[in-house]
Amino acid sequence: MLQLPSDFVQQMISLLGEEEYNNFLQAIQEERITSIRTNPHKISTSCSGLEQVPWSRNGYYLSERPIFTMDPLFHAGCYYAQEASSMFVEQAIQQHWDKLESSEPLFLDLCAAPGGKSTLLATLLNGKGWLVCNEVMKSRIGVLDENITKWGVPNVTVTNNDPKEFGQLNGLFDLILIDAPCSGEGMFRKDDKAIEDWSLDNVKLCSERQKRIVADVFPALKEGGLLIYSTCTYNVEEDEKNVQWIADQLGANILEIQTAEEWNITSSGIGYHFFPHKTKGEGFYLAILQKTAEEEMVRIKTPKQMPMATKVISESCKNWLTSTDNIFLMEKDKVVVYPSDWTDTALFLKQNLHVIHNGLTIGTVKGKDIVPDTTLALSWLLNTEGFSLYNCSWEEAIQFLKKENLTLNGVEKGFVLFCFKGAPLGFGKNIGNRCNNLYPSEWHIRMESALDKYSEIL
Ligand code: SAM
Repeated sequence: MLQLPSDFVQQMISLLGEEEYNNFLQAIQEERITSIRTNPHKISTSCSGLEQVPWSRNGYYLSERPIFTMDPLFHAGCYYAQEASSMFVEQAIQQHWDKLESSEPLFLDLCAAPGGKSTLLATLLNGKGWLVCNEVMKSRIGVLDENITKWGVPNVTVTNNDPKEFGQLNGLFDLILIDAPCSGEGMFRKDDKAIEDWSLDNVKLCSERQKRIVADVFPALKEGGLLIYSTCTYNVEEDEKNVQWIADQLGANILEIQTAEEWNITSSGIGYHFFPHKTKGEGFYLAILQKTAEEEMVRIKTPKQMPMATKVISESCKNWLTSTDNIFLMEKDKVVVYPSDWTDTALFLKQNLHVIHNGLTIGTVKGKDIVPDTTLALSWLLNTEGFSLYNCSWEEAIQFLKKENLTLNGVEKGFVLFCFKGAPLGFGKNIGNRCNNLYPSEWHIRMESALDKYSEIL
């Protein structure tokens, strides 16, 4: 029997009533639900045998949790293992898309690591506009960057900043998502540590911190822009009271989201709750607001440009991309591509924030060669016709992802794009007797225990 803090039990009984609380208690002791969201920019996948997450176009439930690490398509960014309730962000944005000032908007995901909601925002932007994914904790930036890169997003900046460092970018963003650090009541089914750490004092602390985070970043939201506030907790201190505070104190209208009755999502009048005894997903809360407070927009000063790539470089890489309206810049020895419409904004962000990843790195100049980058291999803009392809078996794909060198018979010397079921994984350089593996060392599979455990998901 799950041991829950008595203050938490009291809080949930007053929120749900005694009878419903018992259903809640039973639900959080059941197996957690596994779901994935597929990437429409990667291989076309048939998910016909899978149950759809009803509020998400590309979301599906799995009947059990596989070892994702052993599926090469997971590493290829063909899907993301995302908790189903979180996919509701899609409804919030799509239902209010017409309120965005621009059809190519600028989005900020302020608390982004490990990147589940960022990959969803990127899918909704569909390669248009620009996405800034930020994470304040240095130790969590690597995983965010990896997930964004694997998802293949070309129109992105990944940053490592404190929310208050965005405050200077007045009125810049059309939409800000704040998936706030919280007391994690909705994670009790998944995470014993969340139960251990819970206390009324911690709820209060979280609630104060959440207000601080929102207030710090709020100036960066355009007047009329959209703010999504979400937590994975149920209490009113961190949810309804904070959202009401944003509306009253910072200046915003709380918007409605239409939900189908059979989704069993609970509207509290101020936002939407996902309770595990009612909705098929983990505990989650979300509200969407539109900023009413006046905000002058910061002027994007054209920053000192990074040097342009030479004509020889840009000509030899042009065939690597499916898009044509690009600017090729050099960042030390790296060739980075920006869409021409967004270059100034991306470089302006680089001047004002601690940028980890900006635009699309396509390769590194090494002597006479330009060594193609894994970011390119995984990108939506990759032109596969620009490379010789090698279609791997599952065993070879795992070898490649473990960063082992493979021997390729009958394959020309030079750069080779390794694919699994048509999905690119990364590059190698074939030198004849072996193919040097160019997969990033920090990503390679270290798990040895499950090498025979391939369950085919897509
Ligand atoms: N949005 C993520 C996703 O969908 O994968 C999950 C985000 S998690 C709920 C909250 C994030 O807020 C964590 O990555 C955490 O490091 C970050 N965080 C913690 N303290 C913060 C603070 N004071 N300001 C901003 N972010 C903070």
